[in-house]
Amino acid sequence: MKIGTKISGKYGRHSIASRWMANTLLVVTILLIVANVCVYYFSRQYYYGSAESYVVSEANAAQMVLTRLYEDMAVSYSSEVRELIVNFDKKDRMELMSINKNGEVSLSSSGFSPDKTYYMPDYEMALESDDKTGVFIGFNNGENILAVTKIIEQPSSNYRALRFVASLSMIDNQLAGIMFVCVMISLFVILAVVMTGLYFVKSICVPLVQISATAKKLATGDFSERIPVTSNDEIGQLSAAFNEMANELENSEQIKNDFISSVSHELRTPLTAIKGWAETLEGGYEEETFVKGMKVINGETNRLEQMVEELLDFSRIQSGRFSLQMQIIDVIAELEDALLLFVERAKKEKITLSYNEPQFMCAVMGDKSRLRQVFINVIDNAFKYTDAGTIEVLVDRNESSVVISVADTGCGIAPEDLPKIKQKFYKANRTKRGSGIGLAVADEIISMHGGLIEVESTPGVGTTVTIMLPLAVKEE
Ligand code: ADP
Repeated sequence: MKIGTKISGKYGRHSIASRWMANTLLVVTILLIVANVCVYYFSRQYYYGSAESYVVSEANAAQMVLTRLYEDMAVSYSSEVRELIVNFDKKDRMELMSINKNGEVSLSSSGFSPDKTYYMPDYEMALESDDKTGVFIGFNNGENILAVTKIIEQPSSNYRALRFVASLSMIDNQLAGIMFVCVMISLFVILAVVMTGLYFVKSICVPLVQISATAKKLATGDFSERIPVTSNDEIGQLSAAFNEMANELENSEQIKNDFISSVSHELRTPLTAIKGWAETLEGGYEEETFVKGMKVINGETNRLEQMVEELLDFSRIQSGRFSLQMQIIDVIAELEDALLLFVERAKKEKITLSYNEPQFMCAVMGDKSRLRQVFINVIDNAFKYTDAGTIEVLVDRNESSVVISVADTGCGIAPEDLPKIKQKFYKANRTKRGSGIGLAVADEIISMHGGLIEVESTPGVGTTVTIMLPLAVKEE
């Protein structure tokens, strides 16, 4: 009961605990009341029925004896009736009375003078019934009685009937005892149902309340709290799923914050350069300074444009508006176009860019410019994360796909970052410029072509990015 008050107090009138209490208690109580009524009804039937058959058999036996005596002309019928009543041997269990032809009690085995206004429905019944027997069970003089009247009327005698009256108070006491035990058992059952039920409901409600409190905290931006997972049942699974969701939200919040800070940083750097050069050129310039300044402004503007394009691509992918112009293309031609853009940069950054033109064609069903964009992105990353060393581009093919790998001898990627680098906005290396969505977009483009991007890397040794694309014309 204590748990009940605590739970309903804590969770309110519309809580699961209160609803459960109301519903279950109602059903259990109704069932127990019905069971108790049945027990009372059938026990009463059984006890009263046994008593009735006993008294009726006594009355039948008395009538048979008297009939035999009447037929034996030697004796006086009236004095035999009187004898039977006065010497009645079951006085301790019941009272025997005689009723005269006026319908009044004339003699009683108890010896008390009979009350003439005695209510005797069994006598009335006996007069009308075929077997000359009337039975009455009911309340009389403050107790339940069983009365059986047997007509024994003979022309020579003034006695019309014998009436056997037994008190049912002993049976009633027995019934009360049975009902007391039944009611006690019922109360115990109700108590047990309430206690076990509340314990069970509590095991559901407490985590639910915790989940809703934590959800409210999440909604306000506090991602620190988690639900303790204490079981492996549905509630445990819900708590675990909720915690997983909270982890994801925390993670994406972190990624969003990182993205905002890295994009702002990425925007600020070229803008500072452009602004600086614009101010320098505004105050007068020499030919050489002008050329240099314009080159920087042009380069930084290109970088800004490229970044904005990446962001737009990403937003198109997110909203499902990203589409490809598919046609049969020579993927090697696109790769070589992309490589051409890096020849100058390789010289400038003292990086050996190695590429051996393959002796075969690779026809792929794809989007020319998007595939070129992927190659540029992957090669650009190789340059970005390699300070000095080699970048080797290899093309291979098997019967169903073309495999292009870009291997560098750069800084590499830590094993814990490797599984996440294809995620949007994830940057493993924060010392280099970049929005962290280049690989996410490239991965999406390649998977839209039915291909795969795989990254293998050893920190300090280098990284190999492998792009696999299905061939349009399969080798026989
Ligand atoms: P970013 O614009 O930051 O380069 P990407 O999506 O292209 O974003 O790459 C995600 C991250 O993967 C990079 O921040 C970098 O840490 C890592 N990465 C990608 N390519 C290489 C590489 N060739 N060598 C080392 N790290 C790389």
